[in-house]
Amino acid sequence: MFAKVLMRRIGNIQFTYKTRKLSSKPRLAIVGSGPAGMFACNGLLRKSNFLVDVFEYSPVPFGLVRYGVAPDHQEVKNVINTFDAMFEKNRERLRLYCNVKIGQDITFDELTRGYDAVLLAYGSYKARKLGVPGCASKNVISGSDFVGWYNGVPNAPTPDLSASNVVIVGNGNVALDCARVLSTASSGSLRISDIPDERLSVLEKTATKDIKILGRRGPENVSFTIKELREQFKIQEWDSKLEISETDLKNLIESLPKLERKKKRLTEVLVKNTGTTSGLRQCHFLFHRVPKEVVADSNGMVRELVVENTETSKTETFPCELLIYSIGYETLVLDGVPQNENKMIDMKDHCRVNINAECPAHVYATGWCAHGPRGVIVDTQQQSSFVADQIASDFIHTRHSIAPGVDLVLNERKVPFISWDAWKMIDQQERDQGKLSGKIREKFTTFEKFLSKRLE
Ligand SMILES: Cc1cc2nc3c(=O)[nH]c(=O)nc-3n(C[C@H](O)[C@H](O)[C@H](O)COP(=O)(O)OP(=O)(O)OC[C@H]3O[C@@H](n4cnc5c(N)ncnc54)[C@H](O)[C@@H]3O)c2cc1C
Repeated sequence: MFAKVLMRRIGNIQFTYKTRKLSSKPRLAIVGSGPAGMFACNGLLRKSNFLVDVFEYSPVPFGLVRYGVAPDHQEVKNVINTFDAMFEKNRERLRLYCNVKIGQDITFDELTRGYDAVLLAYGSYKARKLGVPGCASKNVISGSDFVGWYNGVPNAPTPDLSASNVVIVGNGNVALDCARVLSTASSGSLRISDIPDERLSVLEKTATKDIKILGRRGPENVSFTIKELREQFKIQEWDSKLEISETDLKNLIESLPKLERKKKRLTEVLVKNTGTTSGLRQCHFLFHRVPKEVVADSNGMVRELVVENTETSKTETFPCELLIYSIGYETLVLDGVPQNENKMIDMKDHCRVNINAECPAHVYATGWCAHGPRGVIVDTQQQSSFVADQIASDFIHTRHSIAPGVDLVLNERKVPFISWDAWKMIDQQERDQGKLSGKIREKFTTFEKFLSKRLE
């Protein structure tokens, strides 16, 4: 076999480079190292001879598993062990480039010219805005920013937790995670979680005594999962209840015989926990409340939330010194990726992107960026394994490749990145430091010293 010197233009940079030997394997770039990208990668490495490069915007890998999943639900984060084993087993075929943002450091177009196939798995990371007057007031934050902050996202702004009254808008698990973390913080029970110490100390001083979780529709429409809901009702020193009308309660009870098992169990938990809260610390689940206006004080700090109660047609005003909204995510479409009329990636089928005929690479998408921000990790895993099958089958007859990757572009632009080995160093140091205080890890929030600017 022989190597060949080629000239190829990537972006505005013309490179001379040695191709891999002509017998070399097809090359895949994965955008995003969350569960979608990693499960697809795992499937593909098992079923094909692809060489895979993973590009991740954050300085460290694994997306929402690290920066979204609740810090007191470590068992969910164990999925990282599968990804870890995958990287270790496939060192020759798999590389990781964290701190590299596709669309900024490398364009999508450049990726399609550097690889035979590109898999988009970059999630859905922009919180939908509340969009009412006053929503830009201080201490009005999205659930994903709050979750990111306590999970250790670098540079996340610190919320003011001296608030006694907190309102959380949204009826999904993110809203519930925010409420649970706030209401358990002062008990010290989060000390064994992986919340970075400097952020935990802010959380533990929280003055929160009253949390209102507002749903736009009735209690039958909540998107909570039963485990998270039960946990909220079990928190000691907090009285958490659904404060609902007799009509809503009657409807919930009457619906029970018709519901499928999972929904029925959830509804039973809802029914069991209706009533009026009392005591020092209270968490109220309120429904049919639509936010209308955020009222701030002269310093621009949120003080009240005005809502419309659509059940009574009355306007209500809740005291509120911290407002967290979690009303869904917007999917961003990377520059150069085709977009459909719903402003989502234009998919040709369940996994192929509707790319134009001139595009040099096959382009696929999976996970939240492809199908919207729905579902838990297991759902993502199923989709991704399907996508891996599809890519493997599309390339079953591909015997060689001259795709150059993007090493030269990264080197030329001196894009600082974190490799798999650098991540393993961080991982080990975090674990070692965590052990000293009985935590699974002490997450770092800055990574400058681990960044490399050159690929060999
Ligand atoms: C707060 C929260 C808590 C959750 N808790 C649970 C739970 O307890 N259990 C459960 O099963 N599921 C949970 N989920 C759902 C689960 O996290 C998702 O199903 C899953 O993470 C979706 O995977 P993904 O790979 O599509 O997206 P992500 O996990 O978001 O991964 C996408 C990755 O792409 C990267 N990226 C984005 N843009 C770029 C770019 N331009 N260039 C390079 N990289 C980029 C991101 O940094 C990210 O690392 C939770 C979700 C949230 C939001």
